[in-house]
Amino acid sequence: MPGEQSKRQATLVMKFGGTSVGNAAAIRQTVETICAARKDWPRLVVVTSAMAGVTNLLLDAASQAVRGSLQAVEDTTGRLRLIHQDAADDLLQGYSGLRAVKEDIDRLVDKFHSLCTAIHVLGEATPRALDTVAAMGERLNVRLLAAAIAHHGMPAEFVEATRLIVTDDQFQDAHPDLELTARRVEQGLVPLLEAGRIPVVTGFIGATREGIVTTLGRGGSDYTAGILGAALGADEVWIMTDVDGVMTADPRWVPEARTIPVLSYREVAELAYFGAKVMHPKTIRPLIDAGIGVRVANTFNPDHPGTRIVAEHQPEGNGKIKAVTVIREQSLITVEGRGMLGVPGVAARTFAAVAGTGTSVPLISQASSEQSICFAVPIQAAEQVVAELEREFARELERRDIDRIWASEEVYIITVVGAGMKNTYGIAGRIFSALGEAKANVIAIAQGSSEVSISMIVSTADGERAVRAVHQLIVKE
Ligand code: ASP
Ligand code: MG
Repeated sequence: MPGEQSKRQATLVMKFGGTSVGNAAAIRQTVETICAARKDWPRLVVVTSAMAGVTNLLLDAASQAVRGSLQAVEDTTGRLRLIHQDAADDLLQGYSGLRAVKEDIDRLVDKFHSLCTAIHVLGEATPRALDTVAAMGERLNVRLLAAAIAHHGMPAEFVEATRLIVTDDQFQDAHPDLELTARRVEQGLVPLLEAGRIPVVTGFIGATREGIVTTLGRGGSDYTAGILGAALGADEVWIMTDVDGVMTADPRWVPEARTIPVLSYREVAELAYFGAKVMHPKTIRPLIDAGIGVRVANTFNPDHPGTRIVAEHQPEGNGKIKAVTVIREQSLITVEGRGMLGVPGVAARTFAAVAGTGTSVPLISQASSEQSICFAVPIQAAEQVVAELEREFARELERRDIDRIWASEEVYIITVVGAGMKNTYGIAGRIFSALGEAKANVIAIAQGSSEVSISMIVSTADGERAVRAVHQLIVKE
């Protein structure tokens, strides 16, 4: 950092989520936060999401078009134009580039309209077409944000990540090629930084080698920040959101939830995986090897330190629980049978059949005595999964080696996260005592061998009580 200035100036990647750029007032605050950060960070890259709700709007219109309705396309086109033009008028009063920005917005909105019209005619939207549609939100927003920063007197320039992030062609969930991306970043981003400019980059999107637009999966703007942070060898990546960092629980359920000051990469990955609205679970992957620090902070409360995410923890055998998360709308699928012991490969066949339905399984638990396997799937997939399993095990069902395959009604997965739980006795005991006292019944349990988390399945009726009871254990520490 300081000292060797000319060679290696401090580099920060700041990512702003949809609510931080959701309307003119929010964007104004975001511009303030960017300009304040720029004083400490000579090399600053901004990554932005679409305005809050816009990606959903775009994809909904496309799926309505598939179903034959052009009205939704017309409505969405009007709405997109309005919200972005209004924000431009509001933010860029007196700015010399206002007209150009508005023309650019019009052009992109028109493009969205013609794409959806084509989808309507075809009656089909390929994942590839959907990515081009979904990318519009970020593409519109970088223009607005870059102009707003420039109008505020800081040199900024929008950059489409299609020029930087090279991915495979797995549309809607594309994987970046980090080496190629690093080269593109060196050519496309570093010169801007060296010229003292602030690049404002589209989150969420990339492109194949052939230049076809891809997306990194819903919520993927965080991942963009991780990818660019790694490619630049940044010192830090900040994920700017609308709460004071990562919380111990969802404050809507647990009013006494509070900010967690420090988390390890592992803990945050576990939290993201188990439903905490922290950041895209892949975000930290590219950052881990380089040991790049991450901070989750609040755009609307920039003085709050938020949460720091660091490589390793100070050794913590103290049994600390860090956070409690909930995943809703799950169903527990059970494959049950006394004859299962004798049937080879039941687990392998079970999960192969589930994978065949394209469903991912967040939790598995096998009770050896009961001779059953149970696992959670999103509830909307439950029926299809059971049907597929019944097909797979038709013979075993007929012979009564397997008695029953069934899906529960909605359940919650509650996960308790904390690397400090490792090698500590009595944690599970404390958790289950707390649940017992709260009269919350645990239907199934799973602990990852990493010992960073313990997950429990509870009924929806017990869910809120269970979360509060476990959270009490954090508060007492
Ligand atoms: N706008 C995209 C989405 O809503 C990406 C993001 O916000 O991270 O999924
Ligand atoms: Mg997000």
